Amino acid sequence: MSVRDLFKVIDDMRYELVDLTREFIQIPTINPPGERYEEMAGLIARRLNESGFSAQLVRVPDELLRGLKLELPRVNVVGILRGSGGGHALCYNGHYDVVPPGSGWSVEPFSGVVRDGKIYGRGAADMKGANAAMIVAVKALKEAGFKLKGDVVYVATPDEETGGHAGAEYVVKEGLVKGDACVVGEPTEVDKIAVAHKGALWLELTTQGKAAHGSLPHRGINAVEKMAKVIVALEKLKADLVRRETKAPMPEESRTPTMMIGGLIQGGVKINVVPDRCTVTIDRRLIPEEDVEQVKNEIQDFIEKLKSEDPELRVNLRVLEKASPAYTREDEEIVKAVRDAIKKVTGREAIISGLTGFTDMRFFNQVMPTILYGPGSMSQAHVADEHVSVEDLVTGTKVYALAMLEFLGYEE
Ligand SMILES: [Zn+2]
Repeated sequence: MSVRDLFKVIDDMRYELVDLTREFIQIPTINPPGERYEEMAGLIARRLNESGFSAQLVRVPDELLRGLKLELPRVNVVGILRGSGGGHALCYNGHYDVVPPGSGWSVEPFSGVVRDGKIYGRGAADMKGANAAMIVAVKALKEAGFKLKGDVVYVATPDEETGGHAGAEYVVKEGLVKGDACVVGEPTEVDKIAVAHKGALWLELTTQGKAAHGSLPHRGINAVEKMAKVIVALEKLKADLVRRETKAPMPEESRTPTMMIGGLIQGGVKINVVPDRCTVTIDRRLIPEEDVEQVKNEIQDFIEKLKSEDPELRVNLRVLEKASPAYTREDEEIVKAVRDAIKKVTGREAIISGLTGFTDMRFFNQVMPTILYGPGSMSQAHVADEHVSVEDLVTGTKVYALAMLEFLGYEE
């Protein structure tokens, strides 16, 4: 069997690939709140078992769900396909949750309708298509007669769209995922590998004042005016950020940290009452060289300094979300394996880049070199009429299969 035979097998499996993608889309795993997860996890486990994996469902304990304020069950799937021995282990991760469909669709968002060579539906690109492509890639390798030396570890996780705490973070923390490298199938487009993404620190600042009658404002402390001073002062921190440039291959417009203030702002109760409380959110994005705790301390220290200059200033800082940035060096073996596969399948040099948003890559990257690669485009994520082309799915499947051969080794 040759690589050419493998490609032929995958071309012949395109209907199976389309059907599996549609089957995944047709279970609306909408998150929030996290609907139909048990059904979806069960289906993925069945399809994995049919492809030769031994798959198990990993339920997140109720106690943890309560802590995360989640009401519906969270189920992860971990499948292992044992190789003949002597090779590396390669993990593959796909999240199976999708964001709510929103409005503006010209097709039913969970029908998985195929039109002009494209599969439409919420999750088609982000990222049920990639989940299907990976399963079909393993099946195709078997049908083409290749026996992998190393193990394939498939991890399907929920909740990526809401932070991944009961999904990827849980399986990694519990030590359920082990391997020498991991590919997360987010839609990077078929000739692009993302080796990095930014992190995020989401904060809520609250100033505390003292209420008073609007006609006698000097008797109170105006929490909104205090917040205005804090916001203006933070401009100084912002100005410092543009001088920090990442060495990771991030897109041109995303090479420095950013701080966005006021995504949400709240204060005051009535036109003639001095506001005693004002709340503002901060969305601080981190380059891979930064650390979430350090960045939090930097903002905290800055606020403490403002407080020392104004004895009336009372500010509280609350962390809403922490997401570490991630970066895998381009000389890692997994980057080479996927890069070579892209070259062989598409005939083009792979583009190595990074994502501005954060993904589950950050959890897997803590225990093994991790990259993002998947069919479909990030521009299709979360939009109306989300779709992925069948051609891209086929190409992605070939790249996955070839990367497995190179990274895991094989016997014919
Ligand atoms: Zn995604």
